[in-house]
Amino acid sequence: MIRGTAGPTVVGMDSGLAELDERITGCRACPRLVEWREEVARTKRAAFADWTYWGRPVPGFGPADAPLLILGLAPAAHGGNRTGRMFTGDRSGDVLYAALYDVGLASRPTAVSADDGLELYGVRVTSPVHCAPPANKPTPGERDTCRSWLVSELRLLRPTLRAVVVLGGFGWQAALPAFAEAGWTVPRPRPVFGHGTRVALDGGPDLFGCFHVSQRNTFTGRLTPEMLRDVLRTAGRAAGLPVVDEGGGTHRHR
Ligand code: SF4
Repeated sequence: MIRGTAGPTVVGMDSGLAELDERITGCRACPRLVEWREEVARTKRAAFADWTYWGRPVPGFGPADAPLLILGLAPAAHGGNRTGRMFTGDRSGDVLYAALYDVGLASRPTAVSADDGLELYGVRVTSPVHCAPPANKPTPGERDTCRSWLVSELRLLRPTLRAVVVLGGFGWQAALPAFAEAGWTVPRPRPVFGHGTRVALDGGPDLFGCFHVSQRNTFTGRLTPEMLRDVLRTAGRAAGLPVVDEGGGTHRHR
């Protein structure tokens, strides 16, 4: 295990995604986030008092040759920061993984711990900020500091990547410069985020905007399970994945 990395460094093409994930977990480049993630891991939430919190940066999750990438915002304090896996152990993840399961891109509808056996089929899930931020709000500076990790991840996924679902406006703002830095041509002026927005990057993947799976959006009905499934299906098809239609068919659960 590589620990105590001072900060992001761009990883070369010859280094694998597993090595990148390992290096991310040792990053300490953002003092405010390091303090917060470790403080939360020490103090815990009463319901998880018997857990040993992860308390470190949370790397991306899913196969290294994924044609579809899902890009969120940042791990939740008592979700990813507790379990060590993206969107695992919180309400947002419950919504996301249930939808991925429904469209045939995940092996099970729930995500409770890093060793629960969940498998993603052709999908990788990551975020532009890898540490849990206070109030779920990273600063623009923290977002920019973490961008090198995302750029490295995009470069490593590039040979197979065909579609990206970006959850929420923050992820969109973070993603566009990262895609440009990773070598794709991003249109100018930069496309504006919206649910259902689709942007084709010249020679690269198609980007799909989707409201974030946050409780604020799902509890209020701004993002319904059906809306989420629709975006995942469209993006999955653009990525060449066999997705399940609303009425069934082409199911690939194994
Ligand atoms: S947010 Fe990113 S750059 Fe900042 S400490 Fe965490 S992993 Fe490192």
